Amino acid sequence: TGDAMKTPKSKEQVTAPPVCTLSYIHPEPDSPWLTYLAQVDRVLPHLGHLARWGETLKRPKRALIVDVPIEMDDGSVRHFEGYRVQHNLSRGPGKGGVRYHPNVTLEEVMALSAWMTIKNAAVGLPYGGAKGGIRVTPSELSRKELERLTRRYTSEIGIIIGPQQDIPAPDVNTNGQIMAWMMDTYSMNVGATATGVVTGKPIPLGGSLGRVKATGRGVFVTGSEAIRRLGLDVKSLRIAVQGFGNVGGTAAELFAQAGAKIVAVQDHTGTIIHEQGLDVAALLRHVSSHGGVAGFSGAQKADDEAFWGVRCDVLIPAALEGQVTAERARKTTAKLILEGANGPTLPAADDVCASRGILVVPDVICNAGGVTVSYFEWVQDFSSFFWDEDDINARLDKILGNALARIWDTADQLKISLRTAAFVVACERVLQAREERGLYP
Ligand code: GLU
Repeated sequence: TGDAMKTPKSKEQVTAPPVCTLSYIHPEPDSPWLTYLAQVDRVLPHLGHLARWGETLKRPKRALIVDVPIEMDDGSVRHFEGYRVQHNLSRGPGKGGVRYHPNVTLEEVMALSAWMTIKNAAVGLPYGGAKGGIRVTPSELSRKELERLTRRYTSEIGIIIGPQQDIPAPDVNTNGQIMAWMMDTYSMNVGATATGVVTGKPIPLGGSLGRVKATGRGVFVTGSEAIRRLGLDVKSLRIAVQGFGNVGGTAAELFAQAGAKIVAVQDHTGTIIHEQGLDVAALLRHVSSHGGVAGFSGAQKADDEAFWGVRCDVLIPAALEGQVTAERARKTTAKLILEGANGPTLPAADDVCASRGILVVPDVICNAGGVTVSYFEWVQDFSSFFWDEDDINARLDKILGNALARIWDTADQLKISLRTAAFVVACERVLQAREERGLYP
């Protein structure tokens, strides 16, 4: 078809390995911040006079590190490392989730905050980029300990967040309950209920219909459009999904409902494969009662590395960063990668995908459904007028569809990957704002 001919063919300028000049972090090779810097290096040659401001992208505006001490249920005291990084505020207040994970570091949160800057600008949301996190294994805490951790963290970052300053939201291992505690803590501290300080809240506290499934829905919407443009039929597709949380689980559910076969799923508990297609509804029930895919009776257990070689057409990495390595990109039979996670693909793997003709729909557009409905939530909180779910989904589909079309056109024109095209669209917006605002003082 004519559309299939328009599949972007990457001719990226090969650049030297990225260099981090910041004195306060020491990134390991293949780490998230270096991945982000490599992505920035690929966009700079396309920015014309705006490249003068390029260094802005390579350092966060503000990074706050906080100590989070809590009393444990047994009476002991434990301290956790907490972060909130505001990468860029040129286009509006900071926006981005909060992650609870034992491997959280300043450097990781910096990369995640930078990807929020790009994502919000690529989609055209009136936000800068921010991200937060706590270095903790949340499953080891009781509900009361988790509440104390969340409240103390919120108080500590209270000096830089706010409905007009920076608006947190859920991310890996955080959810509506945690947002409710954050909203309450911030509100008690300022002396007024401030629903707009966080998004992803429960519906009775000013949450938005459609927010929980929005990220997975966005993966489905942008993925379906890519499938259409490649001239493929969703009903004939075999899909492998890594990560079966809020993002991967919802995306799998929607693709299965559309007629695709989910043939492999991997999460932190293991890997399962079913050549004829998994019963996704049954798997979702299993995961919600057992905490992971391991032990699901409707599939064969497999080796974790076998996941990457499974026969499939579409790969959806929806877990953590750095999962799609060059080696795994060489191994996969997928023709399309839909990035539900943030930063799942290493730059070297991007090059392998380009040379093998594998299309990558990058995180900054593919998983932008979540923050887009967060934006709707924030707008609804301000106006105290709430929309129905059909309205929200229709607006979401339209915003993502338009953003993807613009990125796709840019990729075609400049003969670059969808990732670099998304960065071109986003960085032009961010640096244009930077230039027009000017330096002050
Ligand atoms: N954590 C999500 C993301 O990575 C959502 C952020 C938000 O809604 O602010 O995009």
